[in-house]
Amino acid sequence: MSTNPIHTDLDYSRPGKQSGHLAIPYSHNLGGWANLRVPVSVIRNGEGPVVLLMAGNHGDEYPGQVAILRLWRELAPEDVTGTLILIPCLNPPASKASTRLSPLDGRNFNRCFPGNPNGTVSEILAHYLTTVLFPMSEYVIDLHTGGRSMGFLPCAHMHLVPDLAQRNRMLRAAEAFLTEVTFLYADVAGTGLLPTEAERQGKIVITTEMGGAELVPASIHRQCQAGLRNVLIHCGVLRGKEKSRAEAGLGPARWVQSLDREDYRFAPESGLYENCVELGEAVKKGDLLGQVFSIENPDREPAKVWAHADGILVANRGPSMVGQGDCVACVAHDVDPRTL
Ligand code: CA
Repeated sequence: MSTNPIHTDLDYSRPGKQSGHLAIPYSHNLGGWANLRVPVSVIRNGEGPVVLLMAGNHGDEYPGQVAILRLWRELAPEDVTGTLILIPCLNPPASKASTRLSPLDGRNFNRCFPGNPNGTVSEILAHYLTTVLFPMSEYVIDLHTGGRSMGFLPCAHMHLVPDLAQRNRMLRAAEAFLTEVTFLYADVAGTGLLPTEAERQGKIVITTEMGGAELVPASIHRQCQAGLRNVLIHCGVLRGKEKSRAEAGLGPARWVQSLDREDYRFAPESGLYENCVELGEAVKKGDLLGQVFSIENPDREPAKVWAHADGILVANRGPSMVGQGDCVACVAHDVDPRTL
């Protein structure tokens, strides 16, 4: 495997708090010998877990970026036991442009793993995470939302990894995020995901969908920030007392899952989409989830998107204009946590 070309002045083993960046070689027409800079802070205090905390994997997903930018300024070394590595925005050009994909190379960063040291900027950064930051970490946290394209019931989520000890620790960590539902998902749209590579390396991986569809209400920011702090205490990297679900006014964790491709509902054709069910609402098999109208043929019956089974709506469509094949709904099903 070739050496990764990313340069950094950060020393991950140095005690105290450092602010710096990863410099990814990137030439453009007005920038020969230039680099793309990804901000990183390392806060280290004594022995303890190494936690890698990231957001902005998809640029247009902001609550996690805000939460980590706040921690960057709020945390001092004495708040930490072990090492906390903060990357508030993995994809600054996408974040600035409010896009899911990198404007520099057109790539979906969450499909670039394990990465390539000789590839595009996204592939080089993915390779650095895979070969440098994941191996040194015990916990890998990647904060997402539904982006501009999808609304999401705020939730911590995870893959059902095959290793039972790893799975159990991931279940407990996800529950510490203190969301109403916790969600098991499947990869229905390709491979090369960041969490999949971290899981393959045996890491305790914690991910979220903190709302989505552009608007971020204050309540979602608060939920993201409070849940994240509780998770960091749970991991043992942040000092403090972990809040139980009962102390947070919540019942036992409600686990739901969407593991079948059918659970993900797609627009049958392009047009103007109407969401017909609220996020978090219970649905029955055959319920109308949404419909696609034709602006050009108002006489025509809209194309219907049906619930294929009973469940709860965890994701819906953000922008009203849809293209054929866009995911417009996700139906999840309750699962008994004792069976997980
Ligand atoms: Ca996302």
